[in-house]
Amino acid sequence: GKPRVVVLGGGAGGGTAARQIAKDSAGAIDVTLIEQNARYTTCFFSNLYLGGFRDFDSITHGYDKLASGYGIKVVNARAAAVDRDAKQVVMADGSKVPYDRLVVSPGIDLIWDSVPGYSEAASETMPHAWKAGPQTRLLKARLDAVENGQQIVMVAPPNPYRCPPGPYERASMMAHVLKAKGHTGAKVVILDPKPKFSKQGLFAEGWEKHYPGMVEWYGPDVHGGIKAVDPASGTVTTDLDTFKGALVNVIPAQRAGTIAAEAGLTDASGFCPIDPNSMRSKADESIFVVGDASIAGDMPKSAFSANSQAKVAAMAVRGDLTDSRVFPARYSNTCWSLIAPNDDVKVGAQYTASETKIASASSFVSQTGEPADLRQHNYTESLSWYESITADIFG
Ligand code: FAD
Repeated sequence: GKPRVVVLGGGAGGGTAARQIAKDSAGAIDVTLIEQNARYTTCFFSNLYLGGFRDFDSITHGYDKLASGYGIKVVNARAAAVDRDAKQVVMADGSKVPYDRLVVSPGIDLIWDSVPGYSEAASETMPHAWKAGPQTRLLKARLDAVENGQQIVMVAPPNPYRCPPGPYERASMMAHVLKAKGHTGAKVVILDPKPKFSKQGLFAEGWEKHYPGMVEWYGPDVHGGIKAVDPASGTVTTDLDTFKGALVNVIPAQRAGTIAAEAGLTDASGFCPIDPNSMRSKADESIFVVGDASIAGDMPKSAFSANSQAKVAAMAVRGDLTDSRVFPARYSNTCWSLIAPNDDVKVGAQYTASETKIASASSFVSQTGEPADLRQHNYTESLSWYESITADIFG
């Protein structure tokens, strides 16, 4: 019969890989996509939903077009394990899905106890919203309930985590919502375990310009370390002080999705080593790991990166199975962040595979003091990016 490819995870990396392999092989390869959820809400643009720039439906996507348009078999169920010896994915109901090549893109899981006092149960009171869906709606509802004079406290994550500028774009959107309601006496306090963060100068300039006095950022040299959160009292305790939030947004440390670790694909870092030329797992030559779960050298964990890596993996998979031509790997990424209406900054790079890692070959970043029309152009560009990447993932 035909060679069989199974893709585990129907997010930015997995959706792209499944669609690309099915499309380019034109029926020569049997493609199955395993995804536990019937619908997928994108983390990317979820900050714009928080800010009131998008509605929830517009960031939520289904798998119908992948099935009807590309002949992909979509299995909407949870995978329980990967049996690498038998080359099959074992589903939670015990059924088995055999593969010749497996693409693994399960995203991240949260390390709940990386913030003492935090837990999955605590996330009902102190949402993380670092996986999109019900958590995103909860965070929005809680944000909309914040009153003038109150305080939002965000516990930012340590490196490495998905979307380096994401927490700071989120803080901007929170401040925007407060300001738009005239709640300029409310504020957003960010307690960060990192001494610096992505696009810091650009965010600092934007906060000063649009939200003076409303966003405060403290690094570890100021707060001394995050000691604990207490969901019952809504507080975050650091060496310096105890911060009370009408809303506390805790974004804990992250690791590769559990199934990748259980399949033996991760190293001590909690993420999956790959061959920088192909995204092939260092642990198993029949398996490729893409997206947030992979160790992708200089590339940040983003949907743009996951999509780019999935295309490289798709090419390598087709090379393995149908002898199609495999070109040298090229990757790219751009991350846009909306600071205020029409004020959007970006950072990005092109990458190639060096001997040891995916390495940045050229890069660009927005500058402070740029004219408003350039920032507005960035925003328009980000809107078209969202349309094109979601079409690339979901058909
Ligand atoms: P995911 O997209 O998370 O997909 C993983 C999928 O695997 C999930 O659907 C999950 O249900 C499924 N899965 C996992 N385990 C199993 C299992 N055992 N069985 C079945 N299914 C399983 N990126 C950008 O490029 N631009 C942005 O502007 C941007 N903004 C962001 C803002 C926020 C607030 C956040 C949190 C992230 C943002 N990102 C952005 C990052 C982006 O969302 C991720 O990097 C991207 O989703 C990674 O893709 P992935 O395929 O690795 O994982």
